[in-house]
Parts: sequence; C-alpha cells; structure tokens
Amino acid sequence: MERLEQILSEIAGRENVRENEPMKNHTTFRAGGAARLFVTPEDEDALVRLEKTCQSAGVSYTVVGNGSNLLVSDSGYDGVIIQLGSRFAHCRRDGDVLEAEAGILLSKLARFACDQGLSGLEFASGIPGSLGGAAVMNAGAYGGEMAHVLVDALVLTESGERMVIPAEQMELGYRSSLIMKRGYTVLKARVRLVPGDKRQIQDRMDELNRRRKEKQPLEYPSAGSTFKRPAGYFAGKLIQDCGLAGFQIGGAAVSEKHCGFVINKDQASARDIYLLCREIQKRVYDRFQVPMEMEVRLLGDFS
Ligand SMILES: Cc1cc2nc3c(=O)[nH]c(=O)nc-3n(C[C@H](O)[C@H](O)[C@H](O)COP(=O)(O)OP(=O)(O)OC[C@H]3O[C@@H](n4cnc5c(N)ncnc54)[C@H](O)[C@@H]3O)c2cc1C
Repeated sequence: MERLEQILSEIAGRENVRENEPMKNHTTFRAGGAARLFVTPEDEDALVRLEKTCQSAGVSYTVVGNGSNLLVSDSGYDGVIIQLGSRFAHCRRDGDVLEAEAGILLSKLARFACDQGLSGLEFASGIPGSLGGAAVMNAGAYGGEMAHVLVDALVLTESGERMVIPAEQMELGYRSSLIMKRGYTVLKARVRLVPGDKRQIQDRMDELNRRRKEKQPLEYPSAGSTFKRPAGYFAGKLIQDCGLAGFQIGGAAVSEKHCGFVINKDQASARDIYLLCREIQKRVYDRFQVPMEMEVRLLGDFS
C-alpha cells in the first residue's frame, strides 16, 4: 500500500491522497470506518490514471460522489475510495441542454438550471447527491427522475475506455442502471430541459424543499429512504405498521417522523445501522411477506 500511495500521490498530488480517512466524514450517515486510501483527483486524466493504477495493482477501488447513499462498514474499506467532488463540478449550457461533470451537486445543477430559466430539474434540487451518483442510481423524487431528463453520460469502462452511453441504452430502472450493473464510472452527463419561467421554477423548488423539511427527518444524519419501494407498497408504511417507529438498535433508529428513514440518532456505528436494517427486513417479511430491498449501497465487510 505504501508504494501504491506514492504512485497515487504522483498522479493526484500528495495533498489529494489521504491514508486511513474516516468515511464518516464523507457520508451523510456520518458512520463507518476508514478508507485505506482516499483520493480526490483534480481532473479527468488523473481519475483515468488512478483507476488504471488500482487495476494493475489488483487493489479494489470505488468511485463515490457525495456519499448520500452509502454505508461503509466499521472495519472500513480495504482499498481506494476515489471521490469526485467540487473539482468535478463544471457545468455549461448548450441550448436547452446542460452538460456537467459528475461531481456537481444536484442542488447546484438545479440552481444553475433555474438561473438559466430552464425547467425539469426542480425534482432534484433537494436530493443531496452528485450528478454521477444520481445517474448511477436513477435518483428521483416527487414524480421526477433522472431518466426523464438524461440525454447521455460519458463513462469510463473497466478497460479504461471513454464511452458515451445514450440514456435509452442506460437501462434506467427504479434506482438502478446499466452503469451500476457494469461498474462504470460516470465522468459527465447531459440533461435536456425545457425553457420555463424562473419564478415558477424557483417556487416549485421551494415548495418541494418545504415538503421535504416537513416530512423527512433532515435534522438527523441518514441516507434518505433506506429501502426501495416494494411494488404495490410504501416501505415507510410497512415499517410503521410493524410498530417500528422509533425502534432503535444502538445509536441507529427508525425515524418517527418518516419510518422509511433509518437515522443515525446517537453516534450509531455502521453495524448498528446495518443490524437495524436487517431487523426491519425480517419483521416486515414475517408480518406481510414483503421482501424489502436496501436502496442504500453497502461498502466493506458486514458479515
Ligand atoms: C436526506 C436525504 C434525502 C434523499 N432523498 C432522495 C430522493 O428524494 N431521491 C433519491 O433518489 N435519492 C435520495 N437520497 C439518496 C441519495 O441522495 C441519492 O441516491 C444520490 O443520487 C446519491 O448520490 P451521491 O453522489 O451521494 O452518491 P454516493 O452515495 O456517493 O454513491 C452512491 C452509489 O453511486 C456510485 N457512484 C457515485 N458517483 C459515481 C460516479 N461518478 N460514477 C460511478 N459510480 C458512482 C457509488 O459507488 C455508489 O454505489 C437522499 C439522501 C438523503 C441523505
């Protein structure tokens, strides 16, 4: 690892490579152990070289965005976490299309669209993820989803090839995509919007964010909806009907405000959160025979 750290530092700059970096500082759950190496590349070429280096060294690596859908195990991640953050946040307008780098926050992209008088991203303004994470997850809210606006994405394949995937070929499903299945890295994406009235766009974003504050436990760390919505049901309602509102394991709790959210109520470990999720799945299945799939992505060893 020492030798690898040296090579990664040469590629990304010493100041951009950290050893044993606590992932609780980079995930909205504010829990979990350390990444053996944590790298924040400054540009696309560095990112490409970082991935190639990890591959040839046979070291696991994972590209993350804002960590708003991630639970990292307490024992950490024995590999390299590559975070695309504010340095990958350039964005430009070309007619009704916005092209942006994967690290841009959806809130910023939605803000930019509004300032440009472009409508279509209002649904995304309160989702605390990056554009890359949103494309991978096909993030959505309040009737909108990335599939409705994405034109294409520039990705990096495992063999280090840059490839543009049109949205129609992305297999965008409910919180899933081809990019997720193949493990590609999103470098950039384009969204097509429609001209709209700035005031109306702003009002819609304000309204949706008001609804979020009212309904969601935003005062606690979480990763949003912990489970996917099972077909024909609402995850939060199933959990509530099992009498699990407020149910706690260690510092992790089922939010009383919105049972679909597992929250880090009091310095929860990743294990607390994980065990609580498993218990919820068990109780919901025992009572309603409905399997609940995690929406949150797990990184590291939870066995
Ligand atoms: C309070 C709160 C509210 C939320 N509300 C919503 C909501 O309304 N709707 C919704 O859909 N989600 C919601 N989420 C979940 C989350 O914000 C989204 O899933 C978001 O799209 C994740 O983006 P991210 O950049 O944080 O991804 P991360 O959490 O960093 O990563 C998520 C997954 O994507 C992968 N990934 C990230 N970036 C890239 C990239 N550039 N290339 C390849 N893979 C990548 C990671 O490896 C990981 O598997 C919410 C979360 C919170 C905390």
